[in-house]
Amino acid sequence: MLRDHTCGEITAKEINKDVILAGWVSKRRDHGGVIFIDLRDRYGITQIVINPDNEHFEEANKLRREDCIQIKGKVRKRPEGMTNPKIITGEIEVITKHLLVLNKSETPPLEVDDRAVQSEEIRLKYRYLDLRRPSMQKKLQLRHNLAQAAREYLNKHDFLEIETPLLIRATPEGARDYVVPSRVHPGKIYALPQSPQLYKQILMVSGCDRYYQLARCLRDEDLRADRQPEFTQIDVEMSFIEEEDVYEVVEGLIKHMLKKGCDIDLATPFPRIPYDEAIERYGVDKPDIRFDLHLHDVTEIVRQTDFNVFKNAECIKCIAPGKDFSRGEIEELTSVATSFGAKGLAWTKVTSLGIEGGSAKFLEPIKDKLIKKIGANPGTTLLFVADKKKNTNEILGKLRNYLGEKLNLYKKDELKFCWITDFNLFEWDEEAQKWTPAHHIFTSPKPEHLQYLESDPGKVKGILYDLVLNGIELPSGSIRISNPDIQERVMAVIGLSKEDVERKFGFLLESFRYGAPPHGGFALGFDRLVALLSGTNDIREVIAFPKTKAAECPMDSCPTAWEDESLKELHLQLDSVAKKNIGKQ
Ligand code: ASP
Repeated sequence: MLRDHTCGEITAKEINKDVILAGWVSKRRDHGGVIFIDLRDRYGITQIVINPDNEHFEEANKLRREDCIQIKGKVRKRPEGMTNPKIITGEIEVITKHLLVLNKSETPPLEVDDRAVQSEEIRLKYRYLDLRRPSMQKKLQLRHNLAQAAREYLNKHDFLEIETPLLIRATPEGARDYVVPSRVHPGKIYALPQSPQLYKQILMVSGCDRYYQLARCLRDEDLRADRQPEFTQIDVEMSFIEEEDVYEVVEGLIKHMLKKGCDIDLATPFPRIPYDEAIERYGVDKPDIRFDLHLHDVTEIVRQTDFNVFKNAECIKCIAPGKDFSRGEIEELTSVATSFGAKGLAWTKVTSLGIEGGSAKFLEPIKDKLIKKIGANPGTTLLFVADKKKNTNEILGKLRNYLGEKLNLYKKDELKFCWITDFNLFEWDEEAQKWTPAHHIFTSPKPEHLQYLESDPGKVKGILYDLVLNGIELPSGSIRISNPDIQERVMAVIGLSKEDVERKFGFLLESFRYGAPPHGGFALGFDRLVALLSGTNDIREVIAFPKTKAAECPMDSCPTAWEDESLKELHLQLDSVAKKNIGKQ
């Protein structure tokens, strides 16, 4: 037997017992000829003692950090004053009889220690060492617990776990597809799925009724801190349901996951905020509702003044964080707002007599109306942004989040979920001068808005919902179109011709012609939920082998250059840009 206990479980109950442990040398200390080793495995750390008269003493003396060893010995109580109440094994130590070095370690290029600060590049290059750190093990454990809890809940509610293919037809869902060239069909490609969307809908046509999958999704996007080229969603689809049924399943699922995974009791149902209201009040469609700071639309009041900035703006909004900011603070907030795209940040201060400072002289004539509308108390600085409606909301929404954090307006570990509902079905793309789907093209319009589909697409709301946690979008989903005629009408709005539709989604529409059930679902960003519950915003922290921001893996150095052999096999050639990139002429 290589071990009969782990390094994280031996307590005073085992005193005088013989044990076999295996793990890595976390620390080795020499105390007056006696060697102490902190032996680490996934479960914890156990203190090992090797006396000078031990036949393995010399070997023990040569042990270095991260050597992999096995020891056999007897558990004893730690001497008075040497106990460590912080760890389970803190009362005992194991006095070693036999030591076996299973494998030596080279000097580790990073410290397997949670206190050490390490560069991201090194952490990812030596991810196996990085993952040995207790905090990383904890995150992997949490991820596992949450995944199992999700399965447990969904299994109990009659969902079937079904795997959908990774090699699929390219059916763009918003981002760029990763593609895989086919060897047996020269000149043809598969795409890697951006999500199992089409397959899960087809599974509903198949009568599978309730489907889920911890699905890998692959999107060839420019990366940001919270993005990865591949990520995991808890992907769910249900037949014969309405919007309310989806809310019930998602809330039940998250409640169960949080209880099982983190012992958190979550109150449900979650509040619901219609999209228009979210934008109006918070400036964004992912509001952080842990704090109550609202945006006030003062366009009508303020536009009446002589202040040029205000006079010509489409939308003027104000935020009143309840603080009396100093000049220096206002300057800092102005540069923050500018970094969010503001042309400037107008301000004034509410006093017991009216308003003072900043733009006060312009606002003087309308000050009473303004103060009444905002409900601001004396001693409060008012901050204004005036711009196009979209920009004003975006900038003040971001400033609101900035102020929430800066002024400690919320408890960091609080979890506040809310639903955002009633999204527009389409968004106008200024650049391309066309309508694009706000979510994806399979989302059902509200039946009462079908009449505007061709005449006024901007007015059409979808049966579409996002769940937001502390300002971060988690799952989104929708009730789908199950009628092929409506699906074709929606595709026409976004400029897809009948031929395009046939070419890209023909197989889905064809399946709908065989009695498609009404259906809907959602996908929950699993990495993001685990990250938030681990107290980080970075999903790379909770993915075992993530990519860098440049979509590379420093450990295996992918992506790698094409081998001539595989190019030939696939009947492909590199162009000059590709050749230059990989250093070939
Ligand atoms: N497939 C969608 C997504 O990845 C989620 C859904 O509508 O179920 O965002």
